Amino acid sequence: MKKSVKFIICALGVSVACLALGLLNHTLDNESKKPKYVFYFIGDGMNLNHLLGAELYNTEKAGSNETLRLNFTQFDTRNFVTNYSASHLVTDSAAAGTALATGVKTANSYVGVDAEGNELRTIADVASECGYKVGLVTNVGINHATPSCFYGHSSDRFGFPKLVDDYIASDVAFIAGSTIMDNESGPKDPKYQAVNTATLAERIRKAGIHLTLDVEEAGKFKGERVALVANDKENKHVPYVIDRKGGEVHTLLNYSKAAIEYLSNNAPDGFFLMIEGGKLDYAAHEQDAVTTFLEVNEFAECVALALAFAEQHPDETLIVVTSDHETGGMSLGWDHYEIRMNRLMAQKASAIEMTNIIQQMRAEGKRNWSDYKQALSDNFGLWSLVPVSKEDEAILKRDFYDIFMKWGPMVDGLYNKSEFLVYDAIRILNKAASIDWTSLFHTGMYTPIYTKGVGEKAFLECRDQTDIPKTIARLMGGEL
Ligand SMILES: [Zn+2]
Repeated sequence: MKKSVKFIICALGVSVACLALGLLNHTLDNESKKPKYVFYFIGDGMNLNHLLGAELYNTEKAGSNETLRLNFTQFDTRNFVTNYSASHLVTDSAAAGTALATGVKTANSYVGVDAEGNELRTIADVASECGYKVGLVTNVGINHATPSCFYGHSSDRFGFPKLVDDYIASDVAFIAGSTIMDNESGPKDPKYQAVNTATLAERIRKAGIHLTLDVEEAGKFKGERVALVANDKENKHVPYVIDRKGGEVHTLLNYSKAAIEYLSNNAPDGFFLMIEGGKLDYAAHEQDAVTTFLEVNEFAECVALALAFAEQHPDETLIVVTSDHETGGMSLGWDHYEIRMNRLMAQKASAIEMTNIIQQMRAEGKRNWSDYKQALSDNFGLWSLVPVSKEDEAILKRDFYDIFMKWGPMVDGLYNKSEFLVYDAIRILNKAASIDWTSLFHTGMYTPIYTKGVGEKAFLECRDQTDIPKTIARLMGGEL
């Protein structure tokens, strides 16, 4: 009797010890382990409905009975954070990028400075101090708002030449993007001297940074610093996924592959890699659902690269996926509990490409409504797959006549101008699919965060987007 009591007590003791040890191990796992490789994914303007929309679109496209989920939406650890800026309840990409890069809230249009204009340390600085090599990847300009928040300091996100100088002065080892944004073709401000992309490219080369247009070469490059762009002459972005003709090498996916290859070869002590899906935001600003979904898909393919890398480096890799804000106020299902992705299956061109097609047609002197109707049918599926009411057709016809009567009125989006004909065609397409948008800009929705790998649970404590880089910094052994 005594023996068995003793045994029970002993077993209990061992159990308690094991439990304590288990808890200790768990704590060690989450707090003490340092990720050697950190992937920081930012889907610009991406939010829950863009993600669910992409999943439903993919499911419809594949004809699957089961909903096809995106890889990162299935991560075990997920959370939501607020993202308002210091100046507005709805943030822009500069203030949100600054929050995600420095852990400090700032005013809209401020990059890497606080609301008083003081320069801030960034998570890239912390990474460098902790011995990590830094890589930044985007499919918009390398000095656009989000990437520049990791190295730049300016109270004007459109002061692109200054941001290039800040990049040159930084420790960023690998950078890739569609172009170097200038202040000639973008928003003009008389306080800046006009500087074009080619001049800025020259500035980077003269600083001793290897600037290349060759994706493969950038990945294989051995040396201190490399900058990869699709265009070093013109301020022009790479096309949307939906508009690719085939064989394009300048893609977010290939940039991400090159970054991982370069960093794997040049960063023996580990790396910090930020990958931004920048064009996703552009598509949502245009309220172009299919174009947005396909950008989300490519973003998820980049996350898949990180997951494959993590498999090769288990216990050393941390993957953080988040967004800076929501764009477009996208909603799914305005119409009687329905979402009809089947109506979107015939869209073959983005709204911007459709505007190009329309402008090309009018430049060629095409003046028959039937030609334009055919183009909308061929590229958006109107009439062929999407029923168009008499009222809606009357609106499209009015837009068509305006093209020739007024020559040039355009819908002025944040980044691109669209023909009214295209704007209204997109609106009809959205309506048919039971998708709606409430803003041409951003909304103030909470943004999601998904994490996987070393220290993933630490992000459960994040309440605002400023907590995210602070948590990454702490896990890397530094502080913001
Ligand atoms: Zn943004």
